Amino acid sequence: MDDGKLIFPVPEAQKPDARMPEPGILDNLLSVVFPLRCVHCGGGCNWLCVDCHAAIKPIAPEHCHWCGRPSANADSCPECRGRELHFSKARAAFGFNGPVRSLVHRLKYSGQRRLAAFMVELACNQAQLSMAEVGLTDSNKAVTLTYVPMHRSKRLVRGYNQAGLLAKALSRRLNLPLQTLLCKEHPTFAQNRLGFDERRGNLKGSITLLRAARRPGAANRLVLVDDVYTTGSTASECARVLKEGLGVDVQVWTFARAVRRQSWQRF
Ligand SMILES: [Zn+2]
Ligand SMILES: [Zn+2]
Repeated sequence: MDDGKLIFPVPEAQKPDARMPEPGILDNLLSVVFPLRCVHCGGGCNWLCVDCHAAIKPIAPEHCHWCGRPSANADSCPECRGRELHFSKARAAFGFNGPVRSLVHRLKYSGQRRLAAFMVELACNQAQLSMAEVGLTDSNKAVTLTYVPMHRSKRLVRGYNQAGLLAKALSRRLNLPLQTLLCKEHPTFAQNRLGFDERRGNLKGSITLLRAARRPGAANRLVLVDDVYTTGSTASECARVLKEGLGVDVQVWTFARAVRRQSWQRF
């Protein structure tokens, strides 16, 4: 696919949400004083060295048609069989391992908000292919991006919401409108050590629609952006709130996706 070609119909009136933070001048100065290293191996290169860049492969083309889990059989997926997931489909650009995991961790824990634009540049072809695959380019209906919210206490500590940064970078790269629609009402335990049921209980009632949220223009389809899809519990809860509050169809796109080898394994 032509890297520079825009494939989405975007109404003129819809512009990206201006509330997301811009990369700071301090970030730019720091990169001059401390040149960027490869986030995975520490080699001298901007964000990723040639070898680590080459090691990143798109997620397998054979996957579950619903949750996007790599699978030889698209109709039989151990992760979503028997589960109630509120999004229509989920897709990710890369598996959550190796340099991809390092990129996500660096974005989340090192204050390097500029990394979001680099990650989106790395993943935008995959994002376009995924959105075309799930039918988001089939009609004239507009697509609007939104993102998984973060509680204000966490945002105060981290300084930003990495899902919001990725959504904003993707919005700019694909010329798609972005809206902030969700709010995290109260902090929850870290999801990464919980199983499916525990995650669902942990999230219950924590995500709400912003009071000012309005159905996004002529669009009736939203793409919820996040950094990593793990069990789908967070994405599903966000999709439920968006569907019930705005009456929209919700699809999910993440930069990376964790894949369990066995259904009993925790992440
Ligand atoms: Zn490297
Ligand atoms: Zn599945």
